[in-house]
Amino acid sequence: MIDCRSDTVTTPDEHMRETAASADVGDDVYGEDPTVNELERRAAERVGMDAALFVPTGTMGNQIAVRVHTERGQEVLTDRKSHVVKYELGGLAQHAGLQVRMLDTERGVPTPEQVAAGYVDEDLHRPGTGLLTLENTHNARGGLAIDPDAIAAAAEAAHERDVPVHLDGARVFNATTALDVPVTDITDHADSVMFCLSKGLGAPVGSMLAGDADFIERARRTRKLFGGGMRQIGIVAGPGLDALENVSDLAADHDRADRLAAGLADVDGFDVSDPETNIVLADVAGTGLDAESVLERLESAGVLATQFGPTTIRFCTHRDLDDADIEAVIDRVTTAFE
Ligand SMILES: *Cc1c(COP(=O)(O)O)cnc(C)c1O
Repeated sequence: MIDCRSDTVTTPDEHMRETAASADVGDDVYGEDPTVNELERRAAERVGMDAALFVPTGTMGNQIAVRVHTERGQEVLTDRKSHVVKYELGGLAQHAGLQVRMLDTERGVPTPEQVAAGYVDEDLHRPGTGLLTLENTHNARGGLAIDPDAIAAAAEAAHERDVPVHLDGARVFNATTALDVPVTDITDHADSVMFCLSKGLGAPVGSMLAGDADFIERARRTRKLFGGGMRQIGIVAGPGLDALENVSDLAADHDRADRLAAGLADVDGFDVSDPETNIVLADVAGTGLDAESVLERLESAGVLATQFGPTTIRFCTHRDLDDADIEAVIDRVTTAFE
């Protein structure tokens, strides 16, 4: 079976397993795990922020950030298809007591005009806008790499109104790889950023939340509140340090996504998007089948992908798939629809 469902299916390699086994550890609740301290220092430095916090998941990182930036009852501005809205169980409401104002954006990032129009002043009747969230790459829109200028313009429109900006950068290094820019070109515009170690970078567990020192101090307390105070986590933070070194491998995943898209485009009934990063979307309406039936047929042929809409399926490339795997996926899908 070739697993193209997500880059989250990547398994830790030998080196990561050795790093985990030999990691220096201590009780992180006392701040005494040297490995996680090193990871937090290096992650913060990487994204140009004062400080960082290791969190078990990207979802927890986003939810902590949203909670720290806002007050109950405020509004959060976000793209309609953002991960924080679509895939985090309504956590904005559950964990932070927020009302969401969703924006219909073209590529996942609002224009400054949309930010201005969505903003509400706090008064006797209106709750006030407490946060703008951005996402890069944009998952639900097919792994789009959002240009730093678009991020800067949206963030500036928020900051002009004293609204902080959180960047959901689960795959921000896929964006910087695709755009060939330093990550700080993107993160410099945000007040906080979350990125995942556990996706294309290959770590078994973990995400990083970065921001200024005061933000991270509050985030650490909120992580505790959410049940995320952890002990000897050097065991999983060690592989995270290795994962930071894997950023340069993402370009190969993107090349393989290009190859996969070109191959799938020749399959009868498949309408395939041009991938910007490691995500390939295929509209399979032309097969006369719905996404679910197409996925069943693919599974019988030895390929796993995920449903992304009634007739849309998603393929993800990642570091556990090599060139031969990609050719095999193309062959198997082609044969399944001949
Ligand atoms: C995967 C993802 C998350 C959440 O990460 P988990 O570790 O799965 O909780 C958040 N935002 C985006 C855009 C993602 O793709």
